[in-house]
Amino acid sequence: MKKFYIIANWKMKLNFQESIELFNEIKQNFLEKNQAEIVVCPSYVPLFEINKNNIDRKIKLGGQDVFWEETGAYTGEISCEMLEDVGCEYVIIGHSDRRKYFKETDEMAHYKVKTALKSSLTPILCVGENFQERQENRKDYVIISQITKALSGIDFSGSEKMIIAYEPVWVIGSGQAIKPEDAEYMHQIIKQTLIDIFPIEIVEKCFKIIYGGSINAGVVKNFLIQPNIWGVLVGSDSLNSKKFIDIIREVNTIK
Ligand code: PEP
Repeated sequence: MKKFYIIANWKMKLNFQESIELFNEIKQNFLEKNQAEIVVCPSYVPLFEINKNNIDRKIKLGGQDVFWEETGAYTGEISCEMLEDVGCEYVIIGHSDRRKYFKETDEMAHYKVKTALKSSLTPILCVGENFQERQENRKDYVIISQITKALSGIDFSGSEKMIIAYEPVWVIGSGQAIKPEDAEYMHQIIKQTLIDIFPIEIVEKCFKIIYGGSINAGVVKNFLIQPNIWGVLVGSDSLNSKKFIDIIREVNTIK
């Protein structure tokens, strides 16, 4: 049976108190047996407090970003070690918000992935085409290029674990996901790109590819029954405990 990933990205949407409350609500409704690893990525400030109350670590924590240097005069940045200190086991890298507002590039994603792999954090690298690129039928090229630039030259021979989140940028926050078959096609493109870069055994062993973009409990199953889709990255519907738990419950019904 497939072990899926359900990853919540809370972005910069909740204050300290709201974050603690939402985490506690999810925790109270958390099911003992899940068919997915549940990862919550709050903003930085509440992470310490959330981690303190997350003794059993059944819900995993993740950062929304990380810097590639380990220490130094990098005002405003956060390191892998700092995220580890507050219980993080995962980190999102290259989210489209960061590419759009902070001009992050594939080269920066490359350094961040490399640094995360040296730590205990599992990187979640986000890739995805924008609306214009899709309209111009360049989506395959864009994804191949993003993956190749971000990952070429990285050594996975130590069996490091890595997640790639395919997120069509124009769908994020729109309330309308793409068709699951369309997502499956893009996952195949990503897998083939990985096979072109790394030995197939490494790809099978180290990489999981997940989908993100307007996922809710009504559609999640249609995505996860696709052969190459191993999980979902959820934005909007992770900000409401009921909606998020409903997604987890739906995933648990997959045979
Ligand atoms: C996201 O922010 O990565 C995301 C997938 O958001 P949403 O679920 O709201 O589309």
